[in-house]
Order: sequence, then C-alpha cells, then structure tokens
Amino acid sequence: RAAPVTEELGRRFADAGHELALVGGSVRDALLGRLGHDLDFTTDARPEQVLRIVKPWADATWDVGIAFGTVGARKDGWDCEITTYRAEKYDRESRKPEVAYGDSLEDDLVRRDFTVNAMAVALPGARFVDPFGGMQDLERRVLRTPGRAEDSFDDDPLRMLRAARFASQLGFGVDPEAVRAMRDMAERLRIVSAERVQVELSKLVLGAHPRRGLALLVESGLADVVLPELPALQLEIDEHAHHKDVYEHTLTVLEQAIALEERYVGGGPDLVLRLAALLHDIGKPKTRKFEADGKVSFHFHELVGAKLTKARLKELRFDKATIEDVSRLVELHLRFHGYSGGEWTDSAVRRYVRDAGPLLGRLHALTRSDSTTRNKRKAAALQKAYDSLEERIEQLREQEEIDAIRPDLDGTQIMRLLDI
Ligand code: ATP
Ligand code: MG
Repeated sequence: RAAPVTEELGRRFADAGHELALVGGSVRDALLGRLGHDLDFTTDARPEQVLRIVKPWADATWDVGIAFGTVGARKDGWDCEITTYRAEKYDRESRKPEVAYGDSLEDDLVRRDFTVNAMAVALPGARFVDPFGGMQDLERRVLRTPGRAEDSFDDDPLRMLRAARFASQLGFGVDPEAVRAMRDMAERLRIVSAERVQVELSKLVLGAHPRRGLALLVESGLADVVLPELPALQLEIDEHAHHKDVYEHTLTVLEQAIALEERYVGGGPDLVLRLAALLHDIGKPKTRKFEADGKVSFHFHELVGAKLTKARLKELRFDKATIEDVSRLVELHLRFHGYSGGEWTDSAVRRYVRDAGPLLGRLHALTRSDSTTRNKRKAAALQKAYDSLEERIEQLREQEEIDAIRPDLDGTQIMRLLDI
C-alpha cells in the first residue's frame, strides 16, 4: 500500500546521494498486516539535508523534532517521520539519551529496543534488512533484545516498560532472558522521567491485550515502581474470611469494560474508562477491616480510591482532564450499589445523571463491568437492575424533553386563544 510513496521518497534520497530505509514500527506493523498511516524512515542524511530533500516533494513538512534528528513530512495521506541514523550515547548521571548521529543502517538498528523493531527495508528497491532475526521472532511472536537484555536495559531502562507495552499491543510474549533481566533491573526504571513512563503506560493500557502487559508489570516488579497500587491489590487471603482476590477481579473488570467500550463510549480504545477500571478498587487495601463477625469491610474505599487515583495520575503527569475524569469515575462507581428499582426516587436518578455529567456512558460501562460475581444468578440480577436504572434515565430524559418543548402558556391563556 505504501510502496508508491516509499519508492518515490527512496528515489529522491538516492538522487541526492543518500540512503533511506523504512524502519522500526512501520516494518513490524506492515509484516503483521496492521500498518496505520505512519511511516518511519531512517537515513544517513542530516536533518537539514532531509528537510531540503523532502520540502519540494511533500504536501507539508514539520521540524519540531529536528533537535532530536527527526523531520516530518506528509504525502498523499501518509505521515512520514525521517530520522537520521543514531548512535546513542547515554549520560551515566542523568540517563537522558544524548543525540549522536551514526553512519550506518546496521549501527542504527543495533541500538533499537527489540528485534521485531530492528528490521528495515532499504529504499528504493525494497531490500529487506534483518540482522538480528526479527522476522523469526515476529513469527514466534516474541520480544527479544538485539544484544544482551541487561546491556540494553542498562542503556535505557524504559525499554523494560516498552516490553510490557508491546506485549499488550501485539499480544506477544517476552523472551525469558529479558524477563529475568526485568526482574533484576526493575528498580532502574526510577531514573526514567514520569513523562516517558506515562506515554508507555498509556499505550499499554490502550493495547488489545492489557492483561498480558499488566501481568508482566506485576510479575517483573516494574509495577512496584510505576503503579504500586496494582500489585497492592493482591491482598492476602484471610483464613476465616476468604474474599476474592481484588487484583484478579480488577483485570477481569478491565476486560469487561473494554468489551462495553464500543457500546457506551465509541470511537475506539478509551483511556479514561480503562484507567478507571484499572484503578477502581485501589482504595481497598487501605480501608480493609476485619469485622467482629469475621467479614471483611472496605468502608468508603471509593473515596480513598479516588484520592489515590488523583495522586498517582498526577505523579505520572497525566493531564488535568484525565485525572479529574478517572478519579470521578472511581468515586462514583459504587453509587449504583444502593439501587434496587423503585427505591431510588426520580431525584436520586437525576442526581446520578448530573454527577456523572459527560462521564455517564463510561460510568454505565464501569459499573456494569464491576457487577460481576461468581454467582450467575446474582450477576444476572445486577445486570437487570442496571437495565432498569438505564431505562429510568431514558424515561426521565424524554420527560424533560417534553417539559422543554411545552409552551409557556397556562390554561387560561389557551382557553382565551381557542375562544373557549
Ligand atoms: P507505535 O508508534 O505504533 O507506538 P513504534 O514501534 O513506532 O510503535 P515508537 O515509540 O514510535 O514505537 O518508536 C519507533 C521505533 O524507534 C521503535 O520501533 C524502535 O525501533 C525505536 N525505539 C523507540 N524507543 C526506543 C528506545 N527507548 N530504545 C530503543 N529503541 C527505541
Ligand atoms: Mg511510532
């Protein structure tokens, strides 16, 4: 599909005496049949030269990433990012990657995170370049570092989190050696900036197989660094009051919320809903109490959970709107608990709608996902109760619409008008 554009661009670079190759996520995604509208290229040309080559050809260009060696160009609906060969150096103190340009495609590929991301297609002519067996790993559906995992993660600890992110996006496994390195080196993730962590964590949560990515985070100890509230849900099972494992429950709720995403939110994967599902019970470990009768209680855990949610998302530098929306959903997710048909007055239903505001669809999805129990009959009853709540919301809406279109005339005025 992309060949007309990639060949044309490759020809232009060759005419200017430079190399060009399609690389990284684009090659991987093309092989997996999931290529979007983004094309990543790498070249020996320096950014200023790249700009000179693409300017007359592209529909539009941008150079916000030029300090990092990246030039952007749009052509026929394709977003092309052209990055100069890298030979990254790491400042041992700040761990911030410094930009240093490299001279060869092979050197550029070796510094990449995983073999499936380290394949290239040299242009023009589409010569496949795969020095680390990325194609085989892609067929085996496994994430493996081109060199020793320890060295790779030592160079950039963010790659450990990226492993979990790609596991979620692609449904791939992670090479046992890399998992071992992640376990040993998880703490090293602390030196990575919150912004970079947030980007990967969001992509993980938005992936098609978040359970896979999250399980890897928890098993490797990475979650203790970036999202300690998640492993904390693995509450010790108490002998006399065996309660469900909140961690397992959380992953199930997340999957159920994803199944309801299309119906209640629409427009593809929804970060706010998914984060709310992931965090909805994080107030439980802190509020757990063993009552005299041996039962476990979690009084007002949704309020504590909303607070913890805010703090965590702030720490991860999420934007204000996301923080507010997710914590609001966590706070409201138990409101339905007290609902049993007629018990709720119309004003209680209205309050539910008003408090949820634009989050109502997501609240429906979250609450329904959370209304699960091993007891099939109880679960069916909960879903039916929610059906009835949604119906009442609908009825009140129609009622309000009728109220809104009713003219401001009283009976006397109407009689006068009709001459009655
Ligand atoms: P997508 O953009 O769909 O999320 P991607 O594979 O393009 O996936 P990016 O984060 O955009 O991922 O990175 C582009 C490419 O750059 C990767 O495929 C990888 O080859 C390389 N890369 C990105 N970040 C790193 C890193 N921290 N260490 C090594 N290589 C990296
Ligand atoms: Mg990309």
